Amino acid sequence: MRGMWSSTLNSRGLMSDIPIAKNRRTSYENFVAVCPECGRDSIFNRASDLHTFEPIAGREVACLSGYCRKPFRIINDSVNNAHEMLIFDCYELIERKHYMNCILSLAQAYEVFFSFFFRVEFLYKPFRSAYRPTREEVEAALEETRSILFPLSNRLQLDNEFDW
Ligand SMILES: [Zn+2]
Repeated sequence: MRGMWSSTLNSRGLMSDIPIAKNRRTSYENFVAVCPECGRDSIFNRASDLHTFEPIAGREVACLSGYCRKPFRIINDSVNNAHEMLIFDCYELIERKHYMNCILSLAQAYEVFFSFFFRVEFLYKPFRSAYRPTREEVEAALEETRSILFPLSNRLQLDNEFDW
């Protein structure tokens, strides 16, 4: 059985075929893929192995099994938010009877959720409805700023502050 393959550009810029991982299991920290060559699980940590926390649409990796090391492609990462992934991770923790870790994961899910919420509310939303000033308002603001920062040239009605 040949399995699924993907065409990709190799390091010399030529198209080559590379096998796609058979199964995958994703979590907040890891992307677990079954090597299509040797059939063993390769656990890729998002921070130390993949160097990204962005969802992986498709990426070439090498099997982590010591004797295999064959290249393959991982695809179809979860696109859930971080807090959702932390909650989904709890089902596996419950199955393995890691109840304390499950509670910690839920607490971290709340932390990540509220961090995301505050970023959206205070960082992104204010710019969505940013006020667009008219030319007259900008000229008035410029004049007011000049009168505060350059009081002498403003009082003498000089056009620029270098003439005084
Ligand atoms: Zn392998």
